[in-house]
Amino acid sequence: MPRPITATLDLAALAHNLDVARAHAPHAKVFAVIKANAYGHGLLRAAQALRAADGFAVVEFDAAVRLRDAGFAQRILLLEGFFDEREVLEGAAKKIAAVVHQREQIALLGGLPAGSRLDVLLKINSGMNRLGFASGDAHGAHAALQDCAGTGKLTLMTHFANADDARGVAWQMEIFERAAAGIVAPRSLANSAATLRYPETHFDWVRPGIMLYGSSPFGELPAAALGLKPVMTLRSAIIGTCDLKPGDSVGYGGMFRAERPMRIGIVACGYADGYPRHAPNGTPVRVGDAMSGTVGRVSMDKLCIDISAMPAAGVGTPVVLWGDGNPVDDVAQAAGTVSYELLCALAARVPVIERS
Ligand SMILES: *Cc1c(COP(=O)(O)O)cnc(C)c1O
Repeated sequence: MPRPITATLDLAALAHNLDVARAHAPHAKVFAVIKANAYGHGLLRAAQALRAADGFAVVEFDAAVRLRDAGFAQRILLLEGFFDEREVLEGAAKKIAAVVHQREQIALLGGLPAGSRLDVLLKINSGMNRLGFASGDAHGAHAALQDCAGTGKLTLMTHFANADDARGVAWQMEIFERAAAGIVAPRSLANSAATLRYPETHFDWVRPGIMLYGSSPFGELPAAALGLKPVMTLRSAIIGTCDLKPGDSVGYGGMFRAERPMRIGIVACGYADGYPRHAPNGTPVRVGDAMSGTVGRVSMDKLCIDISAMPAAGVGTPVVLWGDGNPVDDVAQAAGTVSYELLCALAARVPVIERS
């Protein structure tokens, strides 16, 4: 039997979660965000499962080209825009749309040969304070783009910093509306959290990412309560057991010490598979049909779980590290991170099983 770790991808769940996004934003078109190898799920297989989307958004130029070359005819958007002249030229040839967030990119667009143009999303910084034109520069950037022969269809865009928390979107909407006043163009504002919670942000194009993968953008609201289904299930099995006496410690650094007699299971999954090394004792793991937790430090290839209360558990017992019956959001929360980071970190050595 091979090493028992696998990542099962429920591709029908991806399509289902896209439908959930559409149900929330029925009048908007959807850019399915599939940057970072579709949040670890695989670019082309995710795009195939999400082919009902009106567009795809990526960060990596070569991902945009791979999508186009694979035959996807939808809009394809580069979320950080073009980085150099070659990308602008090839992007125009492949009809790839680009965020424009700084003057240098307008200059690059100006270098396109006559008759060649591409669609742009003019990004306004409304408070995230990462990329985008300052609100006071939005009209200037818009005018510069309109003067540029390389500019195709123009859409206005911004990105929210707090759509998933109590601060909300109203403060950024106000800054955006002031910056965009008088500019007639379609708009794209909403990430997953805004798609789910703030209809007033939907406008023409929404940009859901994490929700498509079955994860909740809201700390306090489980994905299941939003009608989302998990796509990735990281499974493995117990490959060894160990009996502990009181005082025995487990793993590197002795991060866990038994206070009573215990039995632990050694699971074939470690940080080289994408499991977070900083997961503390008690990070949830599903063992058969019951829940347990990690004990001791996660190592490169292995982690340990408490099976003291599970007399039937032993070598070969299946475990779910995250996914089906053990939400990735719960694992992420226990490990002090977000599901995005766990999903994106799935390692190339983990065999993927597609289920549709
Ligand atoms: C990643 C990203 C999204 C998707 O965000 P989620 O929180 O995953 O829905 C949307 N817009 C931009 C600009 C992004 O970079």
